[in-house]
Parts: sequence; structure tokens; C-alpha cells
Amino acid sequence: MALKCAICGEKIEANFLEKIFGTYVGRGKRKKAVCNNCQKKYGDKVKEMAT
Ligand SMILES: [Zn+2]
Repeated sequence: MALKCAICGEKIEANFLEKIFGTYVGRGKRKKAVCNNCQKKYGDKVKEMAT
């Protein structure tokens, strides 16, 4: 499964447990992935930025 960060557009890798190196924001169909870098950079703001 290839995910892209909703903010910077970088590809997000996932480990063998399909845990992504990042986080999900939003719910259901509006759920988006955000990479670790953006999460560190923007903190809680990613929730507004990515949806
Ligand atoms: Zn990012």
C-alpha cells in the first residue's frame, strides 16, 4: 500500500505490521496520512492542514 503525506506529498513507508511512519488524521473516507516529518514540524496543526 503506497501512502503519500497529505501535507508534503512524500511517500510514507510502512513496516511489516503495516504501521506507517507517520499518523492518520481525519476519519472514515476523509482519513489522510501525514508523515513523521510533518507531524514533528507542525504538531497538532496537521489535523487542520491535512483535511
Ligand atoms: Zn509530510
